[in-house]
Amino acid sequence: MELTKPTYDELLNEANELRFQLEEANDTIHAIRTGKVDALIVQNEEGSQLYTLKNADQTYRMFIEKMNEGAVTLNHDGIILYSNSRFAAMVGMPLEKVIGLTFNTFITKEFKEQFDSLIKQAWNEECKEEIQLIKKNNQFTSCLLSCNTLEMDEGTALSIILTDLTVQKETERQLKLKNEQLAEAQYATEKLNDELEDTVKSRTADLLISKEHFRVLSDNIPQMSWTNLPNGEVNFYNQQWYNYTGLTLPETRGWRWQAVIHPDDLSLTMERYMAALQTGNVFEIENRYKRADGSYRWHLNRAVPLRDDAGEIVFWVGTATDIEDQKQEMERRDEFIGVASHELKTPLTSLKGYLQLTSYKKESLPPAVKQYIDKASIALNKLQRLVNDLLDVSKIQAGKLEYAVTTVNLTDMLKGCIENAEHIYPLYKFEHHVAPELLIIGNEERLEQVFMNLINNAIKYSPVNKNVIIKASKCKDKIRVSVTDFGIGLSDEQQGRIFERFYRVEDKKHMSSGLGMGLYISQEIIRHHHGVIGVESELGRGATFYFDLPLITKAKD
Ligand code: ADP
Repeated sequence: MELTKPTYDELLNEANELRFQLEEANDTIHAIRTGKVDALIVQNEEGSQLYTLKNADQTYRMFIEKMNEGAVTLNHDGIILYSNSRFAAMVGMPLEKVIGLTFNTFITKEFKEQFDSLIKQAWNEECKEEIQLIKKNNQFTSCLLSCNTLEMDEGTALSIILTDLTVQKETERQLKLKNEQLAEAQYATEKLNDELEDTVKSRTADLLISKEHFRVLSDNIPQMSWTNLPNGEVNFYNQQWYNYTGLTLPETRGWRWQAVIHPDDLSLTMERYMAALQTGNVFEIENRYKRADGSYRWHLNRAVPLRDDAGEIVFWVGTATDIEDQKQEMERRDEFIGVASHELKTPLTSLKGYLQLTSYKKESLPPAVKQYIDKASIALNKLQRLVNDLLDVSKIQAGKLEYAVTTVNLTDMLKGCIENAEHIYPLYKFEHHVAPELLIIGNEERLEQVFMNLINNAIKYSPVNKNVIIKASKCKDKIRVSVTDFGIGLSDEQQGRIFERFYRVEDKKHMSSGLGMGLYISQEIIRHHHGVIGVESELGRGATFYFDLPLITKAKD
């Protein structure tokens, strides 16, 4: 079969026709892009179909173009008749390519069915739905599709406004995440709160129990007791306190307790109390408390600090024990000692006088009588020392231990005593280091009494080891005299008590004579000389007793 070749004119016409069509298409595209188009012809199997926007004026188009949302118009077949540039940008295609495509192209597979039913519904009524769209680079984006029918000259079209939900979704996601985190934090807080509440409840219960225990305990002890804060304020008293003072808590809380203390005891009480608060050491003092009837009774006060885990003082617990009866007992005893020693002193002095008279012209007496006289003399001296000690003790108690003071050459006095001791105790070896010219102001006789007491004790309490070391030397502005033995020694607890009146260590193994007055008197004498007496010792290894006295370089009298 022979094909008829088109003539030149035919080809020219065809070319012109095609050029015209191309120009027309270009104009349409331009018109669509610039919004000048009012009508659109779509070719399909049924031929060309013309679409015109009915009320599409310029303002409306401008508005659509400027919208942040995508806007498209579809015909019944779902073909895009119109699109704004925002939608083209959303799907990442040039605007001219978007128009004429079926909208379905941009719906993800999963949402196709949902989309179809949305479109079906949209032709009948206004509706909205969230649909996933395929964006440029094959990415997905969630969009809210708001559908509306739109009347056009050639029939009804469907307008779809697309709101990109990506940002909103992200915000929602963030919000959800934040909400979840918030819920989690809230849950944790609630849990913590619950736990805390439980702890507080159980602690409060514990506290109530221990508070109650403390109250029951403190109300049932015979002593008065209190608790005070680290700053010294009293915040609790037991029942005994109220019974005794007849006062109420508001009348005695804080520092008001001072009104209950005997005025003569107040300053020393305050001094010790403040010192204890400052140092954290146990507070202890004997003082008088006023009773509800206005009379005073002696009490022994003690307060100990209670510390927390960090060692900080939380509060103090104090007790006041009534020692009035013991005090009176002691007073009666002191009185008796005073009177008895005084009464003993007179016959003792006459006894000594008679003995001296008897021993007058001793050589003419038979040897046996001479021996009896010597023995009686020794016993009498011992008795006289005892009575003198007893007298001293009662003088100290009465605050009447008085004596004249002069410049004393301690070196000479000590050397004399040592010689004397060597004479009395020939079995003992006295090693001595006494510095020359040790001068002090004091009473020689009383200082001799102290020194001899230390030497006598060193002998008495060192029955096996017979070495005694005596030292006397200057040390800065004072003189230290010490007596060291290697005898039974003293424990720490004993060392703390041996200067008390009538205190003796109860030791069945090393019982020796004595009344526990020597060190008490010695301490008083040294105190009167503005000095200090002390001991360093280890049980079973001996002891060093010493006293320090203020030194003077020149004689003053
Ligand atoms: P006493 O008359 O009992 O010796 P003191 O007052 O002189 O009285 O001494 C009190 C107590 O101290 C003594 O009973 C003794 O237990 C103890 N003591 C004193 N000196 C010594 C010492 N050198 N070694 C051990 N114990 C001593």
